[in-house]
Amino acid sequence: MSTQDAYKRPLRDLRISVTDRCNFRCTYCMPLDEYEWLPKEDILTFEEITRLARLFISLGVEKIRLTGGEPLARRDLEKLIASLSSLDGLKDLCLTTNGSFLAEKAAALKAAGLRRINVSIDSLDPEKFRRITKRGDLAKVLEGLFAAQRQGLHPIKINAVIERGVNDDEILPLVAFAREHGFVLRFIEYMDVGNVNHWQSKKIVPKKEILQTINAQLPMRRVGREQGNAPAVDYAFLDGGGDVGVIASVTEPFCSTCTRARLTADGKFVTCLFAQQGTDLKALLRQGTTDAGLLDILGTVWQQRRDRYSEDRLAALQSATGYDPTVRKKIEMISLGG
Ligand code: SAM
Repeated sequence: MSTQDAYKRPLRDLRISVTDRCNFRCTYCMPLDEYEWLPKEDILTFEEITRLARLFISLGVEKIRLTGGEPLARRDLEKLIASLSSLDGLKDLCLTTNGSFLAEKAAALKAAGLRRINVSIDSLDPEKFRRITKRGDLAKVLEGLFAAQRQGLHPIKINAVIERGVNDDEILPLVAFAREHGFVLRFIEYMDVGNVNHWQSKKIVPKKEILQTINAQLPMRRVGREQGNAPAVDYAFLDGGGDVGVIASVTEPFCSTCTRARLTADGKFVTCLFAQQGTDLKALLRQGTTDAGLLDILGTVWQQRRDRYSEDRLAALQSATGYDPTVRKKIEMISLGG
């Protein structure tokens, strides 16, 4: 069964935030030293997550990404991976992590059934990495990255958010590193997620500029979006040395092909990365709602989905009045799951 939203977009992907906690304080995401974390009892249990995942799969979800917060900060995450990877109908299960616990966790994740992974690395300079993440240790993250590679997790993608004046000089070093070691690199335009990162449009390094920088050294050809609906547009190096992707949510929004739903750590079903609220599934689960009742609600929420935030933002950015990111109080990325 495939459920479609109001703009005929099917439900295909589910991003599950397994915790809102994170040991980093990335300046572009959640830089605050003090943050009010969700109480433990409000976090969905692995059984609750698995039950919801099964229901989402029956509505058309084929791919699940575990995220957070920092997903590897959730104890025994491999147990959840083992449950999810055995669900009928799930074609792809992956994880996005800051990599800081990967060295210890890679073997258990692989054994539990995880096949691929995305690691966020915005700089290869230890000091700059520290400045961006406020608490991160690049050596530890690289140790984790190579541990995951040795375990055979494949592909391993590196996510790099490029911010003007912060790490725009890291584009070519990151490309060289990824090519040398066989990682797939994904550049992400700096987005106005949440409210606390003081986003300004002048800090974006647009996709066009990222591509120009790479092309000047290493010519590429456009490959396109994986399966037509991936967030990244891929480009292959003409010398055969792999490919690189760019996620251009700001300058080339892809709302029209967005098939992604999100489940927050406390069980809110959210239909857009820039949403202000979600549907409280935890309350329904804990009130004893049946599978049929839950399916009905999930289907209805998706059918009513009209989100196209990034397209509206681009129109506003290009208008005479401009775009004010503070007008809408969005759910923080750390709670929502990236
Ligand atoms: N802690 C994990 C990590 O660091 O990958 C998972 C959660 S993190 C919120 C998921 C992804 O969102 C990361 O790749 C991060 O770089 C990206 N992200 C966070 N804030 C962003 C922003 N303002 N613009 C673009 N990407 C952002």
